[in-house]
Amino acid sequence: MASAKVFIRADVLEELSAYARSKWPQEACGFLFGCLDGTVGLVTVDRFDNSDRTDRSLCCLECAEHQPAPVVTRFVPVDNAARRTDRQFHMEPGQMIRALYEHPQLQLLGIMHSHPSAAPEPSAADVGTLWGSYVTHWIVSVTSDGIADVRAYRFRRQDAFTISEQLEIHHCPP
Ligand SMILES: [Zn+2]
Repeated sequence: MASAKVFIRADVLEELSAYARSKWPQEACGFLFGCLDGTVGLVTVDRFDNSDRTDRSLCCLECAEHQPAPVVTRFVPVDNAARRTDRQFHMEPGQMIRALYEHPQLQLLGIMHSHPSAAPEPSAADVGTLWGSYVTHWIVSVTSDGIADVRAYRFRRQDAFTISEQLEIHHCPP
């Protein structure tokens, strides 16, 4: 089976990469907003394959031709409030809630966090996250020299386990 796709505006990809780089050697985190089917709200894995996509009026027009696939058009950084920010992230609650309510016109497509000096593979903690049903999980691997790799995944339940599937990242023009 071919991998599922996700689109991201090239400038947004650069923005989240630069943010992760600026936070090294701490883990960075934030939200990704955009559109899946033009409706407002939270998009979960269930809707990745089954959205009705009848209203694309809120989607990025340049990307409309790429549908059906999630299109990320906005990155919102959130401070990392974890005790050990070099090895875990907990989104700062006040900023997290503000971010969720400040973008009612966009869908929350997923979250990103960085792995300072580590591979962009989901850890056991990542796969077990409460955010698991979000449609995309972005992991930015950062080294002291800059960005090593950006990958996107979706997590889904299979039997008693949560599995991660890597998504194909496509860029759209800014
Ligand atoms: Zn992680």
